[in-house]
Amino acid sequence: MTDQHDGVDKPVQPGGYFPRCQHTKTYAPFTRKLLADQQQDQSYQKRDTTATKEEIRVDTTEAKQYFSKHLLDWYNVHKRDLPWRRSRNPYYIWISEVMLQQTRVETVIPYFHRFVEKFPSVEALADAPEEEVLKAWEGLGYYSRARNLQAAVREVKEVYGGRVPDTQEEISSLKGVGPYTAGAVLSIAYNKPEPAVDGNVMRVLSRYFLLRDDIAKPATRIGMERLAKELIPEGEARDFNQALMELGATVCTPKSPHCLTCPVIEHCAGRMEGAVDALPVKTKAKPPRPEKRAVAFIEGAGENAGKVLARQRPKEGLLARMWELPHVLLPETIAALGPESDEAAMRCLSESLASEHGLEVEPLAPMMDAEHTFSHIHWQMRVYRCRFAGLAGRAAENGSAAGDSDDGNVFLWFGERELEQYALPNVFVKILKQAGSYRS
Ligand code: SF4
Repeated sequence: MTDQHDGVDKPVQPGGYFPRCQHTKTYAPFTRKLLADQQQDQSYQKRDTTATKEEIRVDTTEAKQYFSKHLLDWYNVHKRDLPWRRSRNPYYIWISEVMLQQTRVETVIPYFHRFVEKFPSVEALADAPEEEVLKAWEGLGYYSRARNLQAAVREVKEVYGGRVPDTQEEISSLKGVGPYTAGAVLSIAYNKPEPAVDGNVMRVLSRYFLLRDDIAKPATRIGMERLAKELIPEGEARDFNQALMELGATVCTPKSPHCLTCPVIEHCAGRMEGAVDALPVKTKAKPPRPEKRAVAFIEGAGENAGKVLARQRPKEGLLARMWELPHVLLPETIAALGPESDEAAMRCLSESLASEHGLEVEPLAPMMDAEHTFSHIHWQMRVYRCRFAGLAGRAAENGSAAGDSDDGNVFLWFGERELEQYALPNVFVKILKQAGSYRS
């Protein structure tokens, strides 16, 4: 009888855990010794997991050969034609991998084309003003990726003469380059046998090898990286790593995986065990902290007619140096955004903008609601149409950014030219589009 599992780690009797096929009642042709191997590794011994060394015993040779061969054969026939796959230029591959983090392939493709057209080389990106890079990234989110990429590319230009490093040590020392990006660039661009393990890959390996370790834990990732490296056939790192990513993205999907078309179904231990839906095991991250915010939509008059007042965020922190509509955090006494809290929210908006930024406005009426989720914060926003009444101590510049924004007190009237030039976080682009102020 097939063992049933609830997706939670549980101790296994020594020698008593071998996944069987649901139909034939026979054992999988290999069992796993991954954890036994990992026991010998000092770093892995420190992991916090309930899995035991008896739990997994693998004939890795057979598992590797089967998995790698069938996966590669499948990839050679089914791989998607993606723009970054037409090149082995490590700079292009690096850009694509950074863009693909947290972002879907379909979304990335047009951004990738525009980005490499605008910044076709390490030198072009290194020498570009940050504003231009952020503008090219506008809409992709997670803007620290763009800033780190440019900082790292500048180092590549200065330290490595413009050549993206091809060793683990050198590439990993670049800003923002973690184990996944390093492995992806080294393997795809240089065919080096380095693993590239992201969430997709951990899902595939968890299911195929029936690994119940919590993939949110760093120690599990280390173990997965070792396993993924063992699986790379000699001389095939480039295709194998991409095949593994491709399987995770298109077949072994988070929900309703397409097992019947999977090239490695025959020996997939997770499927034999009926545990696919419970894998991978991942503890839930803390939900983002909700924040209620009032946003000021301030239209200009006279020479600024048709423009909207924008503020540049401070040099450091969330969305550093990006432009936005001025907004303030509302107190917790405002339980919900809506008609019943408009009066209090508008009062708070005008008082906070005046005291924090020297910006005098008169909120007139609510315009729309919006929201945006960061990894750790969820902004619930209500936008109020406001009348501009003055900017104490400094005038809002008309047409050029006014100096460096250490404290976030740089304001600028945004017309079409500024919207083309400066980067705004997506949520403000959406607000401006809905208000008819942003056309593109
Ligand atoms: S058989 Fe299903 S669960 Fe197993 S690796 Fe393939 S798609 Fe994933």
